[in-house]
Amino acid sequence: ASERLYLGMDFGTSGARYALIDKQGTIHAEGKREYPNYMKEDSLDWALSWKTTLFSLLEDVPVHLRPLVASISLDGTSATTLIIDSKTGEPLAIPYLYNESCPDALPLVKSIAPMNHTVCSGSSTLCKLVSWWNNDDSDKKSTMLLHQADWLLWLLHGQLGVSDYNNALKVGYDPEADSYPDWLLSQPYAQLLPMVKAPGTSIGHLKGDIRTQFGFSEDCIVCTGTTDSIAAFLAARATKPGKAVTSLGSTLAIKLLSTTRIEDARYGVYSHRLDDKWLVGGASNTGGAVLKENFSDEQLEKLSEHINPMEASPLDYYPLKSVGERFPVANPKMEPRLHPRPESDVEYLHGILESIARIEAKAYMLLKDLGATQVDEVFTAGGGAKNDKWTKIRERVLGLPVSRATQTEAAYGAALLALKGCQ
Ligand code: ADP
Repeated sequence: ASERLYLGMDFGTSGARYALIDKQGTIHAEGKREYPNYMKEDSLDWALSWKTTLFSLLEDVPVHLRPLVASISLDGTSATTLIIDSKTGEPLAIPYLYNESCPDALPLVKSIAPMNHTVCSGSSTLCKLVSWWNNDDSDKKSTMLLHQADWLLWLLHGQLGVSDYNNALKVGYDPEADSYPDWLLSQPYAQLLPMVKAPGTSIGHLKGDIRTQFGFSEDCIVCTGTTDSIAAFLAARATKPGKAVTSLGSTLAIKLLSTTRIEDARYGVYSHRLDDKWLVGGASNTGGAVLKENFSDEQLEKLSEHINPMEASPLDYYPLKSVGERFPVANPKMEPRLHPRPESDVEYLHGILESIARIEAKAYMLLKDLGATQVDEVFTAGGGAKNDKWTKIRERVLGLPVSRATQTEAAYGAALLALKGCQ
């Protein structure tokens, strides 16, 4: 028999990607599509744009590999929300994007949810739902809420009303009890909430018409997905408690696999469930944005060559692009600190890299103090991952093995969820 393959798709903020892997994790095909711009009544018709991109990606999967695909999963941006007709699946309004805020719903949400709950933010899925519920005066009898990933997966499997507990976190789902809490179920709009399964759970077969149109096999299944940032974590295959991924992009974000769940609103720290473990995350405002303000990517490479990573820089900075920090220090008034600036750019860069490494170390320390599993190995993603000198500096400052994650694409993580759904 031919080897089976697993298809993952990532619907990110700027475009969509796919990755096709085998059970060892080897990539057999991958590709990328930008979202086309469709308009509907003066606004961008995101739903149509994502739907078109979904089928473009299926077309991009090489024809000879399609019959080998055993399962499909995908991720979407967290808190991207659709209100749909529960009979036809058609969107009843323009989707609410991940970063859209509905502050009008906040007082009501705060009055029903526990203090500091993750839904108590204007951009949470629940605020979007409540805002729609209170402002739309159409008949709400046959309506349903789906996240971006749920809706795109529905186009593939055809069973309306299925989500996963990663996407459902920001609508108020309790991943520990594995149910919606009573304070949510007692609301009139609770009828709109989808049922929730673990990410990477088989939902059903790929719809017959899609299967025959594209040439996928008869037994190809579709599995529940997750959010884009969790999919990116899954890609690094950090599957044991104590393994972590630091993302060194414009900002610094850390994610640690823990046996215990950590929540602390002061620092913006919260946990997503991953089967019997917890993915604890926190995001600092420090990171590559400050590097980018001072140096081009070429300069960063050239200057880094001259850094001796075994030597600790005496410069003590707090690199921020603007005022305010949340994690690992909660201080909305914190000022950026990048002085004194030495004459040598090599020393300056060394000081910035070393200082960001100290903040990273403090971040992992804080998670431990809050009760998370102690970190024992760090994988790196993002633009800073390619800087080997920085990796060496971080190894010294963190006192841990640090390496570049082999895979960092969310689409690869989604493909691993498709694989999980087959096991
Ligand atoms: P984003 O969060 O915007 O997606 P990326 O993951 O693409 O960010 O990373 C971009 C960041 O990486 C930029 O801020 C840039 O300064 C930084 N960067 C690029 N090259 C290097 C390098 N060699 N060493 C350290 N940082 C780098």
